[in-house]
Amino acid sequence: MAAPFVDTAKITVRSGNGGNGVVSFHREKYVAAGGPDGGDGGRGGDIVVTVHDHMSTLMDFRYKRKYVAANGADGQGKRCSGKDGEDLVLRVPRGTIIRDSATGEIIRDMSDDKPFVLCRGGRGGWGNKHFATPTRQVPRFAKAGLPGETREVILELKLLADVGLVGFPNVGKSTLLSVVSRARPKIANYHFTTLFPNLGVVYVEEGTSFVMADIPGIIEGAAEGAGLGRDFLRHIDRCRLLIHVVDVSGSEGRDPVADFQAICAELAGWSPELASRRMLVAANKVDIMEDPALLERLRAHVEGLGLELFELSAAAHQGTRELVQRCAQLLQELPPVAVYEPTYVERPPEVDTSGDVDIQQFDDTWVVEAPWLQRLIANVNFGDYESRNWFDKMLRQSGLFDKLEEMGIRDGDIVSLYDLEFEYQR
Ligand code: GDP
Ligand code: MG
Repeated sequence: MAAPFVDTAKITVRSGNGGNGVVSFHREKYVAAGGPDGGDGGRGGDIVVTVHDHMSTLMDFRYKRKYVAANGADGQGKRCSGKDGEDLVLRVPRGTIIRDSATGEIIRDMSDDKPFVLCRGGRGGWGNKHFATPTRQVPRFAKAGLPGETREVILELKLLADVGLVGFPNVGKSTLLSVVSRARPKIANYHFTTLFPNLGVVYVEEGTSFVMADIPGIIEGAAEGAGLGRDFLRHIDRCRLLIHVVDVSGSEGRDPVADFQAICAELAGWSPELASRRMLVAANKVDIMEDPALLERLRAHVEGLGLELFELSAAAHQGTRELVQRCAQLLQELPPVAVYEPTYVERPPEVDTSGDVDIQQFDDTWVVEAPWLQRLIANVNFGDYESRNWFDKMLRQSGLFDKLEEMGIRDGDIVSLYDLEFEYQR
């Protein structure tokens, strides 16, 4: 059996931790006291997402759900920096939307070729070579690296196509796509033949082409999850134009008007916005039409709704050219394929600042370490005012400054928090 088409996946990603800086002093024979030469820790690897055009499903993410980038290595003596952790690159099909799994907010629409950094690796800690100053010639401290980020995200594939085919199974959607493009979807006189969405490029004339998507047949109730189809509607969400294919041959005893209405109801059930998308109606299989009255009833119905109807025999290549040309003409006026803007709002992470702190004094420098402080600093963007304010507030709330006061810190002393140093002012 063919593997199922996978178009959503929930995964956990984690960027690498920064390596630790080290304390080391230059040693040479006959040289009494060398200077500090402890190297920095390497950066943790990022989690980077890129588009890969040879992928058409999220299958790869079905079984492997956890992705962890490499940690940075610790620094070494002789001013040697630790190696940076390698980035982990996740390749996704074009049109994959990355959402926050808790809120569903859109983090990024992977429709263009720009790589996206989903999680930043932690910064490496500084070795003691960085901390030598005229008043502090023997820095006996180095800094630990900062932790990477962990995120849980949902990947959701929404194909990028100009034109989407909709209609009941077996009405000739795949046949139409195969006739107007070089795509070779499976065609059979059997319901639910198409299990994977198919994309084809339709060349209209020199310089004019568009992308057409054939999705598995939508059946009644699909919008309520009654059967196959519902999940596939996401793939026409972005389409600029829909072609609604209706079988008017009467060969299966179906009523074209009822079919047309049923599919429109499905679209509306998925989203009112999709139901109002620009639509052309293709009355297919006119070559084996038994009762022209069926066609005329459909025509009256759709024209009454202000829609254009095209008579078609996809199998006999009749009427397809007119349909394709009309699509190309309409596409010139219609808005471009939707690209979703991020809706994700960065929120300060929850950091519990009540844990223990380790404070060590080296002359006028107070070196503070605590796991919560590492997490706090890893999450501040010092270039951003709001973020700095949040950091300041958290630091004050933690009671760290009271502790430093108790231990005798004086104005002008240096407070050293991982890769942050500042002068203490009461
Ligand atoms: P889909 O399920 O909508 O993709 O339908 P298919 O393209 O797989 O076609 C279903 C069946 O209808 C196949 O046997 C096709 O050969 C047949 N078919 C499609 N278009 C036409 C047509 O214009 N005329 C006739 N006679 N048969 C057609
Ligand atoms: Mg099909």
